[in-house]
Amino acid sequence: MKTSKLAVFHAKGLPFTLETVSVPALREGEILVRNEYTTLCRSDLNTFSGKRIEKTPTILGHEIVGVIEALAPGAPTQDCRGAALRVGDRVTWAIYASNPDSWMARIGIPQKAPDLFKYGHEQIKPDSTLHGGLAEYCVLRKHTPVVRIDEPISLPLMALINCSVATVAGSLRLASSVRDRNVIITGAGMLGIIACAMCRCAGAKRIIALDIDDERLATAKKFGVDFTVNLKPGGQALKEKLAEIIPGESVTVALDYSGVPDTMEALISLLGIGGVAVFIGATFPQRALQISAEQLIRNVHTIKGLHNYNEQDFIAAVEFMEQNFRRFPFENLVHDKFDLDAVNEAFDYGLKSGAHRVGVRIGRRE
Ligand SMILES: [Zn+2]
Repeated sequence: MKTSKLAVFHAKGLPFTLETVSVPALREGEILVRNEYTTLCRSDLNTFSGKRIEKTPTILGHEIVGVIEALAPGAPTQDCRGAALRVGDRVTWAIYASNPDSWMARIGIPQKAPDLFKYGHEQIKPDSTLHGGLAEYCVLRKHTPVVRIDEPISLPLMALINCSVATVAGSLRLASSVRDRNVIITGAGMLGIIACAMCRCAGAKRIIALDIDDERLATAKKFGVDFTVNLKPGGQALKEKLAEIIPGESVTVALDYSGVPDTMEALISLLGIGGVAVFIGATFPQRALQISAEQLIRNVHTIKGLHNYNEQDFIAAVEFMEQNFRRFPFENLVHDKFDLDAVNEAFDYGLKSGAHRVGVRIGRRE
């Protein structure tokens, strides 16, 4: 019988344990994938450090790429784009599986459907063991959006697609269009950096990145940003700075990946008439924002929130990466030095180094 090694997360402060389980017999509609590479998302690090709570024991890791090992009867024979799916194909898949006929799925929010199953977030149970990236195998449930990738994109970059890149694609969808608009992006972490590149490719007029870290802002400049502003306390007021860099013009798209209340309030206060703000970063408990309803109305502002993404965003993310993986230095964002056996070191490094992403190679290094 086939077995799979997996790194089990038990609780904050406890090391991962490397265990071995039998690969279960596939049920109708399922796909068995041999994981090749997993990047550690910020939410994985937050679970490890205790900022987020997940039911344990669990397998973390949801930014995953792998190769199809087996297709059960009733498994999809085509991916989301209509390409054939066969054993040996390299694939990535959405963070979620949910019934496409649910009300939530029909209104474009499958990631909030009542039967939602999230890879890298589920408890290990006797009948449900392999559902995360930090294991040799992953069983894809029925109704998981899967995409076959044929482009020679490196594994670390492919792994980024199904959380970071897809979430950014979703935030651009909610912004309606960034073409010929001035865009502000706050938080130059992984998502913010990808957003800079994506807005550049989508025809934004001027892209302004804000952060409190000069090193991150320097990185953003390599991803299509026109101007960077350090928001450190004591710095020049943001409004004055904008008047200097885009004189006489306004910002009509604001994308917040920082999750900092002061920053989100500042964004709304400087948004031009008809502007849209999309909040993506604030996925942790925090104070309520102070927003003037009068200003919201008079300036015809729109404020939207996004958690995860839908299938359209996932496909947009794959296509963005296929078309642009050579255009920007994405490789520099992933620290590619760890294997599954060194999972504890990988998480420690991720928390201490400030690296945009830490990668974990699951199979053998070639
Ligand atoms: Zn994630």
